Amino acid sequence: PESITVAELANRMAEKTSDLVKALFKMGSPSASTDLLDQDTAELLVTEFGHEIIRVSEGDVDIRHDEDIDDAEHLKPRAPVVTIMGHVDHGKTSLLDALRGANVVAGEAGGITQHIGAYQVKTPDGSQVTFLDTPGHEAFTEMRQRGANVTDIVILVVAADDGLKPQSIEAIAHAKAAGVPIIVAINKVDKEGANPQRVRERLLEHELVVEEMGGDVQNVEVSALKKTGLDKLLDAIAVQAEIMELKANPDRAAEGTVIEAKLDKGRGPVATILVRRGTLKVGDIFVCGAESGRVRALIDDQGKQIKSAGPSMPVEVLGLGGVPMAGDTLTVVENEARAREVATYRQEQATRKRTVQAPVSLEGMFEALA
Ligand code: GDP
Ligand code: MG
Repeated sequence: PESITVAELANRMAEKTSDLVKALFKMGSPSASTDLLDQDTAELLVTEFGHEIIRVSEGDVDIRHDEDIDDAEHLKPRAPVVTIMGHVDHGKTSLLDALRGANVVAGEAGGITQHIGAYQVKTPDGSQVTFLDTPGHEAFTEMRQRGANVTDIVILVVAADDGLKPQSIEAIAHAKAAGVPIIVAINKVDKEGANPQRVRERLLEHELVVEEMGGDVQNVEVSALKKTGLDKLLDAIAVQAEIMELKANPDRAAEGTVIEAKLDKGRGPVATILVRRGTLKVGDIFVCGAESGRVRALIDDQGKQIKSAGPSMPVEVLGLGGVPMAGDTLTVVENEARAREVATYRQEQATRKRTVQAPVSLEGMFEALA
């Protein structure tokens, strides 16, 4: 079979060479414009760029660049996706619970909240916020390394009685490296010895200038224990989201990211998908990482069966052929043949990656991003 360079292929497809290079990078085969492509890769690229519905790598594109994927006129506002980070014992889990609890109407769904790895909360102004409920830096970094930048906003939890600690500073570095804005939740203000002002001052050393000091970083004093300041925090998130003008096209084939996945004894493989664009519907045929399937059921964060899920909604998906990995992309495709084709390709890519790539160290990542 004849081979072709990236630039030649781009030329034949009337696409930009840089777009092909980008696609190749996301497919795990970094190439220069002068590199020769093997037949498989070239064919895949052609299908990628030729098909309207699927582009395997689309889901790996940073969600904040939706304008590159959908026409501006099709974009509608979507809920922000928030990750809570901070030093151990500063109250991340308590805050997540408090925010969620504040929103669970007594009696609704029997008051049972189910853990699906993410949930939505209504802000006082009626808009929604999606929280990823795996707090911590590891999940955040791991997802990023896998090319899934799902977080729009980081809430940095700092205990007012303990102040900035190594993991607080690490969290700031992670958020900054990812280009994600930070809102500081100064927690435990109910405690004796709480000194929120000291926290605000220390933040300056890390180039986080709060509004009171003439900067643009929002900070909110909260107590996850006494459940105070929670509405203010939700307001702050809504304000930040408005500034960011987060949008997605709900009227297209869905794409999402796996937040978590497991093999359930009764239900088979189950994945929590954060829908990033489009609307995921029962009956949709999809590829999810190296697995394919058809949506048998969708279950929301309240445990209710739903028929469809739009952008920024977390939803449990049943009907997978196997268990995907966190960070994998779910892409809805037109038919089963296409689903199998893409799944096989991704499986091959995954094997190749494992054999070729050395694990990325955190240090290495920071150097690369510095
Ligand atoms: P995480 O490690 O960041 O997830 O922290 P946790 O949520 O597990 O909280 C650590 C400890 O701090 C627990 O004993 C919580 O009860 C306590 N805690 C969390 N938030 C508050 C708060 O607002 N006020 C007080 N007094 N204690 C808190
Ligand atoms: Mg915790």
